[in-house]
Amino acid sequence: MSDAASSGQAVAATALDAIALDAEIDALAEQAGIDVEVALPRVAMLEQLAADLGDSVLRWRCTVLRADLVERRGDLIESMKLAWEAHAWATAAGCNRVLSRAHEMLGRAFRNMGDLVANLEHRIQSVDALDDTTPPTVTVKSLIKLADAFAETESLTAARERYEEAFRMAEDLGDLRLQAMVFNNWAYREYEHGDAHLARQVLDRLVALSEVQGWELDYCDLDTIARVELRLRHYLEAETAALAALESYRTGDHSESDAEPDLLLTLAAVQRHRGALEEAQESLTASKILSDAAHIDRLTVKNLLEQAQLYAASGDFESAFHTMCEQRAVEKAQLNQEREAQARNRQALFEVDEARRQAEAFRDQARRDPLTGLRNRRFVDEALPSLLKDVAAEGAQVTTALLDLDYFKRINDTLSHEVGDRVLAECATLLAQVPVGDRGMVARVGGEEFLLVITGVHLSAAVFILEDLRRTVAEHDWKPITGDLPVTVSVGVTSATAESTQSTLLSRADEALYEAKREGRNRVCLDSRSELTSRRLLRNDIP
Ligand code: GH3
Ligand code: MG
Ligand code: MG
Repeated sequence: MSDAASSGQAVAATALDAIALDAEIDALAEQAGIDVEVALPRVAMLEQLAADLGDSVLRWRCTVLRADLVERRGDLIESMKLAWEAHAWATAAGCNRVLSRAHEMLGRAFRNMGDLVANLEHRIQSVDALDDTTPPTVTVKSLIKLADAFAETESLTAARERYEEAFRMAEDLGDLRLQAMVFNNWAYREYEHGDAHLARQVLDRLVALSEVQGWELDYCDLDTIARVELRLRHYLEAETAALAALESYRTGDHSESDAEPDLLLTLAAVQRHRGALEEAQESLTASKILSDAAHIDRLTVKNLLEQAQLYAASGDFESAFHTMCEQRAVEKAQLNQEREAQARNRQALFEVDEARRQAEAFRDQARRDPLTGLRNRRFVDEALPSLLKDVAAEGAQVTTALLDLDYFKRINDTLSHEVGDRVLAECATLLAQVPVGDRGMVARVGGEEFLLVITGVHLSAAVFILEDLRRTVAEHDWKPITGDLPVTVSVGVTSATAESTQSTLLSRADEALYEAKREGRNRVCLDSRSELTSRRLLRNDIP
């Protein structure tokens, strides 16, 4: 960047505060048909400003916006790199807004690479990450995208649920444009999926909405109506809608969009079906001229197909045949190109993998305790609820234990805090060796307090394991660290039932721990409500 440019930024920095920045980022993110070449340097500048202001959230929102823009320019790999970086930061910082957007970008990139399942996975995570810091219109749009992703992976039922949910939210917001967007996308997916009748039902809701609210359908809505009516062989209705779509497009301000050749193509098909072959040819030619001029390659195949059908309808079978052959050739060439591009992208994805691994490392780091390397409370808060759900659903066996070092303060006071830390780390090493089962966990949840969750074994077996751990700690050679001071632990144990919540479970374990302390420490105590055939298991012989 030149000096002149950076001094220009310094001036702008004083003029733009965080609030203005926030508003501008929102506006840029919402803008459809944005001019990427103009927007990119602007966003890069805003990103720098946000960094200078020390506002990380704004800075990373700029990064995902940049990912959005470079993707529009066709640079999928660069977009994915930026999205993974934002993902890494958002995960470590716990910023759901950026996390959600990063997933959205990743979904879009995968979709463009032809991986619809990966798209769906990211869309799900994008919606999962939404919270009350998300503007409601963003939530509705994310839900629509999620519904689209479900529909594209043939999960129409799941898609319909999301469309309904998005509609209800848009309705509550009183946002007609969003309500229409729900219905339009929904109808289009039903149509694509082959059910024109269902599509028509959704469109009926769209039309009713526009009539009741006295507001006009836009060209996208009208084009969908035209296609659906055509499929239903309602040619008159289809033509009315196709003409209205074109009219609406031409009278509106859509300079940024290149929808006209699409609309003309729909009109040509309708006119052909209606038998108005000359008009159909005019519409088709107009579509071709526009799409050639704007280099919209994706329409070439559709255009040729329509031309072939038009020749056939007028009895010129030879031209129809030749056009069909041409159509096939172009389609094949485009498919090959697409495959090559996808292969190239997959290759480049290996590079992005590096960024992804980094993202995962960040994510893991944010869920570990730095002193001991064990899991931390954040990890527990995320993982325990789903374990408890499984207890309720399948009766999975989950034993929870709280472990607290005995007279730990004495170690700190007589030796030093550093020695205390070494004891904690050494203890953690012993704890980490406990067989906790596939989904079990060992976490440091307080200063000298640890949580063990043991899965997949009966409570009695879990108690054996814990008793063994207690003895291991007590018999460990602590001399090199604490000299003559012994190190022992008290353990409170409880087992999860279908009714357990994280807080009831932990408070029961805590009660049992308190009992262990009260009874003299260096022992394992079972919560009185947990069923255990032989409580003699809990005889702790103090060494
Ligand atoms: P009890 O047997 O009743 O548990 O006695 P205690 O001395 O272990 O319990 P108390 O809760 O009175 O003291 C816990 C001490 O743990 C107090 C605090 O200074 C120390 N502690 C908490 N976190 C850390 C840490 O990260 N490092 C060190 N060295 N000490 C810590
Ligand atoms: Mg203690
Ligand atoms: Mg304690």
